[in-house]
Amino acid sequence: MNPWHPKSWQQKPALQQANYPSQAALDATLEQLSLLPPLVTSWEIESLKSQLAAASRGEAFLLQGGDCAENFSDCNAQIVTNKLKILLQMSLLLIHGLNKPVIRVGRIAGQYAKPRSADMETVDGVTLPSYRGDLINGPEFTEEARVPDPVRLLRGYGRAAMTLNFIRALSDCGFADLHHPENWDLDFVSHSPLADLYHRVVNDLSNSLKFMETLGSAKNNDLSRVQFFTSHEGLHLHYEQSLTRQVPNRSGYYNLTTHLPWIGFRTAATTDAHIEYFSGIQNPVGVKVGPGMSEQWIQELVERLNPENQAGKLLFIHRFGAGKIAKELPGLIQAVKRTGGNVCWVSDPMHGNTESTSSGYKTRRFDNILSELEQSIEIHQSEGSILGGVHFELTGDDVTECIGGARGLDEEGLKRAYKTQVDPRLNYEQALEMALAITQKMGK
Ligand code: PEP
Ligand code: MN
Repeated sequence: MNPWHPKSWQQKPALQQANYPSQAALDATLEQLSLLPPLVTSWEIESLKSQLAAASRGEAFLLQGGDCAENFSDCNAQIVTNKLKILLQMSLLLIHGLNKPVIRVGRIAGQYAKPRSADMETVDGVTLPSYRGDLINGPEFTEEARVPDPVRLLRGYGRAAMTLNFIRALSDCGFADLHHPENWDLDFVSHSPLADLYHRVVNDLSNSLKFMETLGSAKNNDLSRVQFFTSHEGLHLHYEQSLTRQVPNRSGYYNLTTHLPWIGFRTAATTDAHIEYFSGIQNPVGVKVGPGMSEQWIQELVERLNPENQAGKLLFIHRFGAGKIAKELPGLIQAVKRTGGNVCWVSDPMHGNTESTSSGYKTRRFDNILSELEQSIEIHQSEGSILGGVHFELTGDDVTECIGGARGLDEEGLKRAYKTQVDPRLNYEQALEMALAITQKMGK
């Protein structure tokens, strides 16, 4: 067998890839990408890995969240800031309620490629390639927009770099200072019943912070800054490959587009290209685990993706649906246990709970999401495994995409601010409610 290389996936069947009209144009773009600087560093990646190792032991908790897909137009100050704000606010509730550090990972700065159930889409007798995300083609139903264009890879790299630049600048200044959580308030929610509760938690935390500083037990630097990490589905293998590099003084290859790339449920077959690519990188790697995954399959994933059995290296992000998780998850937990492999279990209560309304909206019910989340917590408790984190599709904006929550958003209400082009996201309030629900179920 040949040794692993960033291009060795090309020898295996690759699902969900774009069909470019010109190989020469794709190659020229990949060549340009391969000369551009990395978006993240191996130090950051290794730091995340060791924090995830703590999460897998129950000593920290992962909060991963963001859009189903970012659009290039989401590279905008307001949208990015609101996303960071909701993640920060949720993380404060979790820190307070769980009494452990929270690792914040956005689905951000690169979540531009989407798997689709069909390659082609037909509207009024016209058939065109499906929209696969802004990294590949455009959403408009025209031939010009839908034919994959490799120049979009460079634009995606650019948007990811600009988004990261803004996140880093905000994290480096007062915005991410735990002494000033007032910077994270979102304008449109000052009237929300949850806002009161949130502010009580913030006051509580800021009193403890002052107390620790008075005692001299807090290292100022640790507390005055919060860290953000990035993640995206590593779907477009040519793009991922072109930024997969060796790093001086470290062994192996790193994917330097993002800290935490994950493998979607549709592309997790062990004989396929995605697993081949992911088996060779040093980053922590997530795999979506869903209905029908066999014990043998998940055991092979452990072996292929974490052969050295490093802690914090492999995340299983399960997404079964509220009606299936109780039947499917326990056997997989037991199968992983039998391998002796180190894994970090994460609950994605979104992707198994998608449905369509009679008026054609793709939505999710808050109650089903909450039920899967609560069942996840119970199942890990009864199996003696550890739920190390959660994975949500959410936004800091006031959208109406998921049904339910404290405000009782109903089907009729979805049309007020239904904005997603792909999966429905929790809005600000629903996201805060989920964070509270976690603390109520898991808190000490
Ligand atoms: C996603 O996370 O947006 C997604 C497509 O998930 P899954 O692969 O679990 O269906
Ligand atoms: Mn999604």
